[in-house]
Amino acid sequence: MARNVHDPTRTLRPSWLTVRVYDHDDRWEPFSMYSERFTKLTPYVPGEQPQDRSYIKLNTNENPYAPAPGVAEVLQAYDAETLRRYPDPNAEALCHLIADTHGLKREQVMVGNGSDEILSFVFFAFFDSARGPLLFPEHTYSFYPVYCDYYNIAYKKVPLNEDYSINIDGYVREKSCGLIIPNPNAPTGILLSLDSVTSLMERWPEDRVVVVDEAYVDFGGESAVSLIDRFPNLLVVRTFSKSYSLAGSRLGWAMGHADLIQALYAVKDSFNSYPVDTVTQKVGMAAMADRAWFDQTRGRVMVERERVSKALTALGWRVLPSAANFVFAGAPALDGKAVYEGLKAKGVLVRFFNKEGLTPFVRITIGTAEENTALLEAVASL
Ligand code: PMP
Repeated sequence: MARNVHDPTRTLRPSWLTVRVYDHDDRWEPFSMYSERFTKLTPYVPGEQPQDRSYIKLNTNENPYAPAPGVAEVLQAYDAETLRRYPDPNAEALCHLIADTHGLKREQVMVGNGSDEILSFVFFAFFDSARGPLLFPEHTYSFYPVYCDYYNIAYKKVPLNEDYSINIDGYVREKSCGLIIPNPNAPTGILLSLDSVTSLMERWPEDRVVVVDEAYVDFGGESAVSLIDRFPNLLVVRTFSKSYSLAGSRLGWAMGHADLIQALYAVKDSFNSYPVDTVTQKVGMAAMADRAWFDQTRGRVMVERERVSKALTALGWRVLPSAANFVFAGAPALDGKAVYEGLKAKGVLVRFFNKEGLTPFVRITIGTAEENTALLEAVASL
């Protein structure tokens, strides 16, 4: 099989980044073509998207259902001729719809090329370790340290409680330039109540930004968006990839005080004026407009999550309480790696994190009822 030209699992090493050139005396000397900051990068490793055979794919927290039917209608009716023109750089119509849907003003919303891009702009705009390290949970979304390295931001990981929940007191105690937490957290799926987020904000310095990354909030969480008018230093980040079933379109958004949003626009316009293409702007609107589809599909995911959690618990597994579209669970007699490999051999793909403290577990995305039944059968025969 042809090897990928870009293999993100390959560690970058200065030795193979170095070429040799002749100096004036005709001797070889090492010369690197790469910037020093580049040689220090440790790229994020996304979940597998295997092409070798078909799997029941429960490894990247994708939605098992199609996006709202209006999305297919937009694509079918799309006039290719309009691609001649650049998109609306600020996706005005989409931002208005997002604002209306969440009871906000237009100037409190910004969209980007996936919430990963929004997060990248956020890290650039608000976090500066001259004022202290950025704080985030010890076990969390592994893109956060990658952006810290990219923007040269020092960070400090705050330990989770013994039950893997987030300990808000641990953050309030620390000096820092800001804080980012996913709610529910990833990969644990554990939710922090709105009361806890409120209590954190009440005790947090007003001149430091708090980011709540709500990628999974629609599967049972309470959004902090209701706190935005009270706390001008709170930024809520969301995605169309999970509850709106548009991971392939790459669309995310931020909600917060107009000043924070304006700062994000300044970063965007210093990097790429048109991060969200014309088709994606329309597709996102069709997905968000269909509230009935949204409620029906996320409702099904939540019902299935409870069924999978109960069935795994009955098989002796430890299942952390999840408010997301995945469960983080450990088998009684096998470690996470063995479970991952055993399930893969049976055609079911889940995610294993080879990190201290997480190795007893695998993260299992909730699929359709049929996929989940197949998963449970595979688990029972491990
Ligand atoms: N935040 C969290 C916690 C995530 O798990 C993900 C998905 N990998 C993202 C943000 C990014 O999602 P996207 O870029 O697809 O919007």
